[in-house]
Amino acid sequence: MTKFPQFLIDGHQRFKDTTPKETKDKYEQLADQGQKPGVLVVGCSDSRADPITIFHAEPGDLFVVRNVANIVPPYVTTGAHHGVSSALEFGILHLGIEHVLVLGHAGCGGIKAVMDPETEKRDDLLFVSTWVSIMSETRDAVLKDMPDATEDEKLKALELRAINSSLTNLMTFPFVKEKVAEGKLSLHGGYFDVRSASMFISDPETKEFYKL
Ligand SMILES: [Zn+2]
Repeated sequence: MTKFPQFLIDGHQRFKDTTPKETKDKYEQLADQGQKPGVLVVGCSDSRADPITIFHAEPGDLFVVRNVANIVPPYVTTGAHHGVSSALEFGILHLGIEHVLVLGHAGCGGIKAVMDPETEKRDDLLFVSTWVSIMSETRDAVLKDMPDATEDEKLKALELRAINSSLTNLMTFPFVKEKVAEGKLSLHGGYFDVRSASMFISDPETKEFYKL
């Protein structure tokens, strides 16, 4: 029989034993009244960049969708399954989310895959290569603009620019564009530096990142 991971069993026990009464009350309240999160986060699946942890968020605070390389694809209605787009639609149109944060991070394996020309030739990266190819044009722009930069510098530049590209893609969704125009929705880009545990935010005007 497949054994359920022990650290999850232990962790959930600690969660039950140590969760303060106020938080348990909050869960009850959220169960009765439903959720009303103020922020939708598009984060990376990376285990080091958990939005709940980084922002010390409470239950009910954040509506989170995570994928490889925290990418928002452009608005398309063709094709079969759109995980990110359905989260955006539900969060913005049905939960009344007022802020969307695209949250990238340092050392992103998905962004590294975009940069590596071998990725699309590998059978074991079939889904990853198709998914991250959304950022191919952004990668090409980085390579064009930084011919003399080191590989690490190019990777970091792509990690940052991909966040801004996702913000651009967000605006291709008609309901996002409409809510932003009405002043009911704000879009933000964030970058978590894992080593220093610091957060950097994209300036909407300059697209440069400043430390929070
Ligand atoms: Zn990542």
